[in-house]
Amino acid sequence: MPSSPRFIVDSMLGHVARWLRMLGYDTVYYRNIDDWKLLRIAKNEDRIILTRDLGLFRRARKNGLRALFIEDPSIEKILALLSIRYGIRLEFDENDTRCPECNGILRCTSSIVEVSSKVSKDIVLKYKKFWICQSCGKVYWQGTHWKTIPSILERAQQEKLKFLSKIKPIEKKISSEEGV
Ligand SMILES: [Zn+2]
Repeated sequence: MPSSPRFIVDSMLGHVARWLRMLGYDTVYYRNIDDWKLLRIAKNEDRIILTRDLGLFRRARKNGLRALFIEDPSIEKILALLSIRYGIRLEFDENDTRCPECNGILRCTSSIVEVSSKVSKDIVLKYKKFWICQSCGKVYWQGTHWKTIPSILERAQQEKLKFLSKIKPIEKKISSEEGV
């Protein structure tokens, strides 16, 4: 989808990169990268910068780039903010998801033949659906680690509602003041 926002996150936000990729958003992340390089990638590839570094945030804004300063590292709050600000969906779409490790596009498959050489026999027998990364070849399935994902997305939805309820009274106040 060409209209989907694309992101670049700073080295302190690796967990955010993994989440955005899982939710299907093209997100680049480097463990070590100079600020000027990060700014250049953001500009060239039209990516929104997410950062915990206030200096980097200011430089980005000064250069006319889209950027969000992340104060609170809790993933639920960050996802809620990104959903309000950039419209990211807080739901997992099995046909629109990316590799948390490398940002490659994942393809969903039920074919045991396709994955049997890459995962153990126990896993092949236990799960019916797998995702294969088109870039690095890694195979994913909804194993035990998956259990926390729906609950985190649900909490992100709740955080979003909380944020929105805080925004509304201010908007009302402004419009009533304008009406006077
Ligand atoms: Zn990959």
